[in-house]
Amino acid sequence: MPDHTAALPTTDEVRARARAALRDVTIPDGDDRQARTPITGGDLFGLRASTAADVDQAIAAAGEAFRTWRTTPAPVRGELVRTLGDLLRQHKSGLADLITVEVGKIRSEALGEIQEMIDVCDFAAGLSRQLYGRSIASERPGHRLTETWHPLGVVGVISAFNFPAAVWSWNTAIALVCGDSVVWKPSELTPLISLAVSHLLEVAIAKTGAPQGVHRLLLGDRAIGEQLVDDPRVALVSATGSTRMGREIGPRVAARFGRTLLELGGNNAAVVAPSADFDLAIPGIVFAAAGTAGQRCTTLRRLIVHRDIADDLTARLVSAYGNLPIGDPFDEATLVGPLITDQAAGKMTAALEQAQAEGGKVLAGGNRLGGAYVEPAIVRCTGQTPVVREETFAPILYVLTYDSFEEAIALHNDVPQGLSSSIFTRDQQEAERFLAADGSDCGIANVNIGTSGAEIGGAFGGEKETGGGRESGSDAWRAYMRRATNTVNYSSRLTLAQNVSFL
Ligand code: NAD
Repeated sequence: MPDHTAALPTTDEVRARARAALRDVTIPDGDDRQARTPITGGDLFGLRASTAADVDQAIAAAGEAFRTWRTTPAPVRGELVRTLGDLLRQHKSGLADLITVEVGKIRSEALGEIQEMIDVCDFAAGLSRQLYGRSIASERPGHRLTETWHPLGVVGVISAFNFPAAVWSWNTAIALVCGDSVVWKPSELTPLISLAVSHLLEVAIAKTGAPQGVHRLLLGDRAIGEQLVDDPRVALVSATGSTRMGREIGPRVAARFGRTLLELGGNNAAVVAPSADFDLAIPGIVFAAAGTAGQRCTTLRRLIVHRDIADDLTARLVSAYGNLPIGDPFDEATLVGPLITDQAAGKMTAALEQAQAEGGKVLAGGNRLGGAYVEPAIVRCTGQTPVVREETFAPILYVLTYDSFEEAIALHNDVPQGLSSSIFTRDQQEAERFLAADGSDCGIANVNIGTSGAEIGGAFGGEKETGGGRESGSDAWRAYMRRATNTVNYSSRLTLAQNVSFL
């Protein structure tokens, strides 16, 4: 694999790019935390972290704003989100720079993340005129039965490092048109992009005259998130991150009868059938497995290949991996940037050692190139061993083989996670069976396309240990509202349901 890590920028150069992108943004100076970059591993700026009192004040302000925001007409609320979308369009390049600086995403993927935010703002602005309720046939004469949707309250958004801005926008754009206010706790690893997009929302709030407290940003570590989790004034906690995190917060929010929307880890697989078109499958697999340096929740981690084509397919994948340039994510030629931290690279090495101890054979990559840079790896496995069943947040593709379609589906579903899945086949019956009730058990199931790179129009999320939440498109908005069933008697008689008579 072409290793370009000898030609990395300096930390000063990376800092200069960040400063340019942040020129209009107020940075809370301090020395509680350091903004840092995985490109060099260097520190960029000292920051003041939010305190427990800040969290309390943010939730109070969001609650206060909610009182007026909930009765603001939804299409007027949509105007705020439309304005945010316009500002994101204007600042797309600088925002993408910040994502590259803090996460190490290559330029094209960083721009793609901002585009996704613009798309979700467009979607939410349209949605602001489509928060439909149902009209239901009443069993009683002279009665009208309807369902109405009302704003829910303060939404606490806790987000992960790997989509540091898009996940915020999925939640915030939808929550705002639904009439909720938002308090956001981003990943401790991505404060700069969080400050930048929050600043743009503040500008949009000022332009449209929306109440100021409708959005609040809190910087800090998980203790800040825990405070949001435990505060009864937060009606919904929408949390994106590891299954470990979801397992901790789910019961805590449930204990106070709050709502959660959980978007947790994945362990995504693609089945490759004997009829698969390799010209589709190979680029689809390589992007899904090695793109974003293997740090998408939808990254392809398991390849379940028919035995007859396994040797041929893996040889072609090994060859494709040999041409993946690794290095400076700002360099247009780079396809694989750094992992988020040196520790993440260490976890990848540990997983590869475990895979080998469990009988796996490394066919490509797997070397550490210094700092947080690694070579994406392909590992041929003897079976779905313990390491294959875990999500290692790094570019490791485990290759498993199958003989019958039923065996492929059984292997596919035999992991604790249930986020994304795909099949490469030209056999329509196989494709349909993969999508059927006894096929893939995931929230996302694709045909002839990889597991990653979802569009915002569909509901996004997964089953089992992925948490069951749905964000973004389709009717995911319902999670951000409360439902009321209304019965109106416009007759002159009191008729009881189920023919009950009384008095
Ligand atoms: P993480 O779980 O370490 O942290 C995520 C966020 O949760 C951070 O803001 C963190 O501060 C906060 N947090 C952690 N423990 C908490 C607690 N006990 N209470 C309150 N807040 C807490 O995850 P990460 O390393 O930032 O991100 C990678 C993980 O996120 C992967 O597992 C990936 O699959 C998952 N992810 C899932 C989706 C999805 O939509 N399903 C999307 C992106 C990332």
